[in-house]
Amino acid sequence: MQVSTGKSILNGIAIGPLRIYKKAETQTKQTSSLSPEEEWARFEEAKEKAQEQLAGLYDKALDEVGEDNAAIFEIHQMMLDDDDYLEAIKGIIDTQGATAEYATETTGENFSAAFAAMEDEYMRARATDVKDISRRVVNILTGQGDAAMQDDKPAILVADDLTPSETVQLDKSKLLGFITRYGSSNSHTAILARTMNIPALIGVDFDDSWDGQLAVLDGYNHCVYIDPAQELLTAMEEKRKADLKQESLLQGLKKKPNVTLDGREIKVYANIGNTSDVGLVLQNDAQGIGLFRSEFIYLESEDFPTEEQQFLIYKRVVETMAGKKVIIRTLDIGADKQAGYFDLAKEENPALGYRAIRICLTRKEIFKTQLRAILRASAFGTVSIMFPMIISLREVRDAKELLEECRAELKKQGIAFGEVEIGIMIETPAAVMIAEELAEEVQFFSLGTNDLTQYTLAIDRQNPKLDNFYDPHHPAVLRMIRHTVEAGHRHGCWVGICGELGADQKLTETFLRMGLDELSVSPAAILPLRKLIRSIDLSKAPET
Ligand code: PEP
Ligand code: MG
Repeated sequence: MQVSTGKSILNGIAIGPLRIYKKAETQTKQTSSLSPEEEWARFEEAKEKAQEQLAGLYDKALDEVGEDNAAIFEIHQMMLDDDDYLEAIKGIIDTQGATAEYATETTGENFSAAFAAMEDEYMRARATDVKDISRRVVNILTGQGDAAMQDDKPAILVADDLTPSETVQLDKSKLLGFITRYGSSNSHTAILARTMNIPALIGVDFDDSWDGQLAVLDGYNHCVYIDPAQELLTAMEEKRKADLKQESLLQGLKKKPNVTLDGREIKVYANIGNTSDVGLVLQNDAQGIGLFRSEFIYLESEDFPTEEQQFLIYKRVVETMAGKKVIIRTLDIGADKQAGYFDLAKEENPALGYRAIRICLTRKEIFKTQLRAILRASAFGTVSIMFPMIISLREVRDAKELLEECRAELKKQGIAFGEVEIGIMIETPAAVMIAEELAEEVQFFSLGTNDLTQYTLAIDRQNPKLDNFYDPHHPAVLRMIRHTVEAGHRHGCWVGICGELGADQKLTETFLRMGLDELSVSPAAILPLRKLIRSIDLSKAPET
């Protein structure tokens, strides 16, 4: 068994024979026997044909991967009409007496090298696109085509690189996955692979001996096993079956609303810890992010993350969610989440100690850095801010005041920000008891049932000896949830749950009956929960 590693662009497993695809070496004649005018006319004719092919690919992609992803072929059409590109080709034909194919190939290579050297990752990814369009025109001019990428048997395709047009033309029924030597995870090929749900690895070094060998592409662990051992093969087949089950669940639920049989709607959002979880959010078709635990940015950092560093992270998440709601919880550090550079003193009772909003309201510069970063990201999508560990009205008002200061500063500096919804976590009994007043200050409540259970039952959630006593189904906890929903609704706040209890299927019907508006759960819990919601009928009497 041989193992090679790369970079995964989609979590998933493919098992099957490898098939190496090699592009034909195009033979282009350099010097033309025709006049430059005639060569230019040949080029223009080929370009027209290429545009027609691209229009066809756009329609195919529109059908298979949707408008946003099909847009790459519109971009290709525009690139083919780009003045600089056309002038470069014409220049080579005119000054070197070259054939149209030689001029197109050379220009494609030159432009591709220029894009590849750029700092901007998006522009770097354009290197493949310009090569792709040039190759298309050259193939038309020379009448040469590439070898067939696939044969009759399903296989994992292995290639140096795949262009977006090659990717969209692949026959999905015979494609188990693909592996490339080059490519970037932000390229359109990678985006298309994700959308088409094809397990894929990039940056993998391979050789000709791989052709025809049995392999397991393990997208979860960024590697490919060639000639896998039987034990591994069996384990991977099991994992693949589980994935397929999840996949069929997804296909049945995708874009369907989360409504009960009698028409009651509830939002199902995802909880995430960092940007790499966003792929899972999309893969599981969540309607939004209900809890972005921003403290993980601090925990993964050696020093206080700057405003710019945080802004880029929030922006990436917000942009990827493309208009869907992203609720960013402000720094909830302390207790079990410690970062050395905060220099927090050791405490007798850390869960009751200096943590979360208590740190933020006393070390204001740290808090304001984060608030500014979140506000700036709000210019790129739909952002909500949520304050953790609230016990008093004063804390909420102070936090809002600091947020207002940040808005004023940004405005003065001419830095853009959008509208943000403001909410708080309800995770202390104190917050539950004053929920009526708190609801006047904010637009939503999210119940942090992990801490709410800990503080209501006076049980340290970190202590394994107390596991049998830690009962989130305790009537006291459930009554607190009910009270919070009713108080929130009376004052126009929507109310959700982002603690682990939100995914507890034994309570889903109870939560629906209580009137909760949202459940935010870990990505893997989303689809089973949505399936359950769609099977509940609240018009029937609850089972006792
Ligand atoms: C909670 O307390 O329920 C919660 C969601 O926050 P965390 O688990 O991060 O404390
Ligand atoms: Mg909490």
